[in-house]
Amino acid sequence: MLNLRFDNTFVRELPGDPQPGNRRRQVHGALFSRVEPTPVAAPRLVAHSPEVAALLDIPEDTVRSRRFAEVFGGNALVEGMQPYAANYGGHQFGNWAGQLGDGRAISLGETINSRGERWELQLKGAGATPYARSADGRAVLRSSIREFLCSEAMFHLGVPTTRALSLVATGELVERDMFYDGRPRMEPGAVVCRVAPSFIRFGNFELPASRGDHGLLDRLIDFTIRRDFPELDSRRGLPSSAIAGGGNDRLRGVDGTVRAEWFAQVCERTAVMVAHWMRVGFVHGVMNTDNMSILGLTIDYGPYGWIDNFDLDWTPNTTDAGSRRYRFGYQPQVAHWNLGRLASAIAPSFGSLEPLHAGMARFEKAFIEADGRNMAAKLGLAALGPGDEALVEALHALLAAAQMDMTIFFRALARLDLANPATTPFGEAFYDEAKRRELEPALMSWLRRYAERARCGGLAPERRVQAMNAANPKYVLRNYLAQQAIDRAAEGDPEGIHELLDVMRRPYDEQPGREAFAARRPEWARDRAGCSMLSCSS
Ligand code: AMP
Ligand code: MG
Repeated sequence: MLNLRFDNTFVRELPGDPQPGNRRRQVHGALFSRVEPTPVAAPRLVAHSPEVAALLDIPEDTVRSRRFAEVFGGNALVEGMQPYAANYGGHQFGNWAGQLGDGRAISLGETINSRGERWELQLKGAGATPYARSADGRAVLRSSIREFLCSEAMFHLGVPTTRALSLVATGELVERDMFYDGRPRMEPGAVVCRVAPSFIRFGNFELPASRGDHGLLDRLIDFTIRRDFPELDSRRGLPSSAIAGGGNDRLRGVDGTVRAEWFAQVCERTAVMVAHWMRVGFVHGVMNTDNMSILGLTIDYGPYGWIDNFDLDWTPNTTDAGSRRYRFGYQPQVAHWNLGRLASAIAPSFGSLEPLHAGMARFEKAFIEADGRNMAAKLGLAALGPGDEALVEALHALLAAAQMDMTIFFRALARLDLANPATTPFGEAFYDEAKRRELEPALMSWLRRYAERARCGGLAPERRVQAMNAANPKYVLRNYLAQQAIDRAAEGDPEGIHELLDVMRRPYDEQPGREAFAARRPEWARDRAGCSMLSCSS
């Protein structure tokens, strides 16, 4: 039995679209539209996350039941679910794009687990909504596998993220022009159930702001603070029981200092999230403001990618290939820019601009701190000190010039003999033999410089390896690994997904026998679709 308890605050407390159905439309004065998932032909569970099932108190035998696939494929609702699609806007590639909304994501409700935690369940690919514009509301298996696996891989890497409960094949085909070359083909469809405390995005605030609907904006801000930032809300003396409760108290505006602290926290969380991306070599690929979570969670796994050979200029997204707005090394700046769009949107709800400027400054401070902490851990130093910035910059330049694998390099660095540095631990990190020969002397001189620094200001030897291995994953969801799992699944074999998920559950452990999952990208994958760059087609 699927026993879930729901407390659907978003649809209960915020204004919804009075018009039913999924006819495409502009929706004014409302933050969501009630819409049900469109049933699919033959829902079949392909994979699930045991950790997320446990989080929701769903037993394993229930996960394997027919009912589970029916519910999480969009064919049945559990009592208490009140499905809706959220209405939001966003800046896409730097331009205001107007109303976007959940075009194919349908939230089922906010479930409360046995620990009292709130987890919203959301199906992606569950059919058209009023926000689907000209698209079909569906998702293909390949992109769903990528979203499912990466959500969980990121969680286990310690990166703030939305989670994924399940991956259900629909038994239906979806038409997609994967290469944008005018030759669409039919692909298997799937539905992922995403799970997060909140799916509110920067774009949820931007849309009412863009329409001058300040009343709606105010309500959304207050709601977000009450539900998603309870520690802030309780600071103004409101008992937390009133948060889940109801009544007129809920509609009272929160005061200016709480709003200021809220925005500062959004900035801080966003900074910490992006610093983690830089630590593990994750490139989101579509950092539009509609893809930025108010909780600082990584959200909307589309044409994302992982750094193989270190390259701050790399973007995984073919649509981004021209301007490279969403390239690896530019992610902190884009996050800052996106926070600026959020700040402009919410400004009418703030008495002055000062707290917004202060929040933006908090982003910079928090990013520098988090990035510094991460880099110190990656290098096995107690903390970064004066002169270390130059050491890190020299390393980045070297890794890029030598085209070395980021993950393999950092993991190997813990094995460096500080008393007697040598390049031997790094052989596996090179993609190009000529580059290796050319840059080995430069690597050697950097290693000497680093070893000297680590000997005097570093951690004790046992602590050092431990701290470094906890910051430098051995396993990341390399693009080619995900693609191999996708290729196998397309031929009817889901084992590749299960195995990869299992590897990614312990990314910092050695996992003897699974070294192949830590190998650098093979030559065949260098320019293959899905293994190097991806289109937004999903
Ligand atoms: P994304 O680039 O995936 O963040 O999507 C941008 C907007 O397009 C969002 O409003 C999505 O919900 C919507 N969208 C993307 N793909 C589809 C689809 N297949 N059907 C309906 N809406 C979609
Ligand atoms: Mg999106």
